[in-house]
Amino acid sequence: MSTLFTKIINREIPASIVYETDKVIAFNDIDPQAPVHILVVPKKEIPTLNDIEPKDSEYLMEMYSAIKEITRDLKIAEDGYRVITNCNSHGGQEVFHLHFHILGGKPLGALLV
Ligand code: 5GP
Repeated sequence: MSTLFTKIINREIPASIVYETDKVIAFNDIDPQAPVHILVVPKKEIPTLNDIEPKDSEYLMEMYSAIKEITRDLKIAEDGYRVITNCNSHGGQEVFHLHFHILGGKPLGALLV
C-alpha cells in the first residue's frame, strides 16, 4: 500500500507540483500555514526521520538542493524561511513518508512548542 505522497509522485492524486527531479518532488501543501508552504518529499518511502539510513544520503542532499532552488525561485531565500520535519505522534506527523515543510513569505515569529 503506497503512501499518500507516493500517490502524488505517481500522479494518482493531483497536487500543485513546483519542483521535481528523479529523487525528489515538491508541491504546495493542501492546507497552507503561511503564504509559502511547500512539502519536499523523497521519491522513496522513508516513513519517518528515525528511519533515515546512510544509503539515503543522496535523497537528503537532493531535498536540501530542492529547498535552496525553490526558495531562490520564489524570492524568499534572502528574507528567510523555516524548514520543519514532524516525527511521530509527539511531533504531530500525519503522513508517514518523510518530508520537509518549507514555510515562508512573511515573518514567522517564534517557534511554536
Ligand atoms: P505532517 O503532519 O505529516 O508533518 O504533514 C503532512 C502535511 O501534508 C500537512 O501539512 C497536510 O496539510 C499535507 N497534506 C495532507 N494531505 C495532502 C494532500 O492530499 N495534498 C497535499 N498537497 N498536501 C496534503
